[in-house]
Amino acid sequence: TSAGGRPLRKYKLVFIGDQSVGKTSIISRFQYNTFDDHYQTTIGIDFVSKTVPVDDGTVRLQLWDTAGQERFRSLIPSYIRDSHVAVVVFDITNRESFEATTKWIADVRAQRGTDVIIVLVGNKMDLAASRKVSTAELEARANEHDIMFIETSAKDGFNIKLLFRRLATALPALE
Ligand code: GDP
Ligand code: MG
Repeated sequence: TSAGGRPLRKYKLVFIGDQSVGKTSIISRFQYNTFDDHYQTTIGIDFVSKTVPVDDGTVRLQLWDTAGQERFRSLIPSYIRDSHVAVVVFDITNRESFEATTKWIADVRAQRGTDVIIVLVGNKMDLAASRKVSTAELEARANEHDIMFIETSAKDGFNIKLLFRRLATALPALE
């Protein structure tokens, strides 16, 4: 049980989006406060678990990382089906990864309907000088799908804590 005596609430979050957008890096930054410049292929599906404080206690977040390679893609829908939260990530310097978010969001809606919190994450903000997707476009896409949005950098840590704090705060709406 948590400090308040309530049972520790657990939530599953699935990270989806095209390859190389920074899914694994966002999780590493949040979990270990580290960043690796070298690309490391995520093999299949991996998860880490972390507790975060919320207003009335603590929640445990289970973060499910996914890999975009073709041979693992078929696994992703079942992870989406099991998740309370979908974190849809794209790279602000990669227009194609932004276009692909429409498909990723549709996959989440197909599996969970409206019974899910979705956040659209524009990552690699440390490279904002060469961005290909504006904040206004990100906001418009989020509004179109009625979901949350945020800009982050796994490299310098920008908004990473805020991303998880916002998600933890939004979770009670699911109950
Ligand atoms: P994934 O395939 O979505 O899991 O992407 P990774 O987390 O493996 O990151 C892919 C590449 O982008 C790696 O070389 C990372 O070091 C790099 N990367 C990830 N996040 C950032 C970021 O916020 N800024 C910059 N400049 N590079 C990043
Ligand atoms: Mg990865």
